[in-house]
Amino acid sequence: MSLKQTDSVISGLIEKESEYQKKTLRLIASENYASKAVMEATGSILTNKYAEGYPNKRYYAGNQYVDEIEILAIERAKKLFGVGHANVQPHSGSSANIAAFFAFLEVGDKFMGLDLAHGGHLTHGSHVNFSGKWFKPVAYSVDKETEALDYDAIRKMALEEKPKLIICGYTAYPLEINFKAFRDICDEVGAVMMADISHIAGLIAAGVYPSPAEYADIITTTTHKTLRGPRGAMMMCKEENAKKMDKSVFPGTQGGPLEHCIAAKAVCFHEAMQPEFKEYATQTIKNAKVLAEELSANGLRVVAGKTESHLVLLDLTAKGITGKDAQMSLEEAGIITNRNTIPFDTRSPFITSGLRVGTAALTTRGMKESEMKEIASMLVKVVEKPDDSELKLRIRSEVEELCEKFQVYKE
Ligand SMILES: *Cc1c(COP(=O)(O)O)cnc(C)c1O
Repeated sequence: MSLKQTDSVISGLIEKESEYQKKTLRLIASENYASKAVMEATGSILTNKYAEGYPNKRYYAGNQYVDEIEILAIERAKKLFGVGHANVQPHSGSSANIAAFFAFLEVGDKFMGLDLAHGGHLTHGSHVNFSGKWFKPVAYSVDKETEALDYDAIRKMALEEKPKLIICGYTAYPLEINFKAFRDICDEVGAVMMADISHIAGLIAAGVYPSPAEYADIITTTTHKTLRGPRGAMMMCKEENAKKMDKSVFPGTQGGPLEHCIAAKAVCFHEAMQPEFKEYATQTIKNAKVLAEELSANGLRVVAGKTESHLVLLDLTAKGITGKDAQMSLEEAGIITNRNTIPFDTRSPFITSGLRVGTAALTTRGMKESEMKEIASMLVKVVEKPDDSELKLRIRSEVEELCEKFQVYKE
């Protein structure tokens, strides 16, 4: 029986969400639209299989084809990112980070990560997260003037603190990361270098953003952000750390792998190797740069002054509106964003002074520079008059018109 026949309530809600995704502008920097091929694999019969262990070393019988699929996913991941070893089993970015910690640290060990308020992720040392509860985080920050990473300051802190591991790779940092600088610092203090490339994996795979592959001891990433695959994650490392990393995923922190998601990851890696994906990633950064310039020209302050990736962080302080209120008003106008703290934010992470926008999803829809200009202008209008209901209605219909021209899932 079809979903509609079995459960019309859920089926109806999915239908509504589908319409909503069609008619709204998705500017959330961590989101994208997976291809139909990726979703077909995710929705496949592979969900029926238990496959604890690794290819050719399973704890259950009947994994002949599942093994072939997982081996392909691993081989493609290695080729795509130029790494010695890959593990495609992590269920999410956070699960991958837990496994990375347990591969190299003991409970209570000290590590360094970027402050959450400055663009780090929850799993990089927040006190409400396993990383801050079980380990001893020391947070580095961006420079107050430039709002960019200050490698001398990070080095100085590392020399003083002697962490066992240092994380680079962030969730709200718009500039390029100097992975070589992190390697040098880690070598100097004897720390493990962990690169969490969740946000930028697609840009790295396409070769349009620096890669940590030759420097990092361990790399973690989600597969559903700029990489445009299914929800999930993976880990990569040099051959010498392979055993340690694999054991930390299974049996260390996970049970049975989600083979339907692993098949979808393999499809995503295949897509990311195509010339069209390089074009996509190139356009994604171009679009973000235009968006940053246009927003700035319209009076919004762009954190760090620019972007070198798919995301733009905005400081709304001068406009007299909080991130929370801006996010809500924009949502009413059909523009979906998320509030975000800015470096040295005076407001709480729940309210915030900033807004994070990204171009990964809009670019998948086929939008280019001229649409970015249009969107920047709509966004600024709403932020300047967040309580103007008529304006929000008008923008909402403009948004729908634009969306109509750029359908994701054609036919
Ligand atoms: C998104 C993200 C994660 C977490 O991924 P989930 O799949 O949501 O658990 C981890 N690290 C960074 C840097 C991220 O951007």
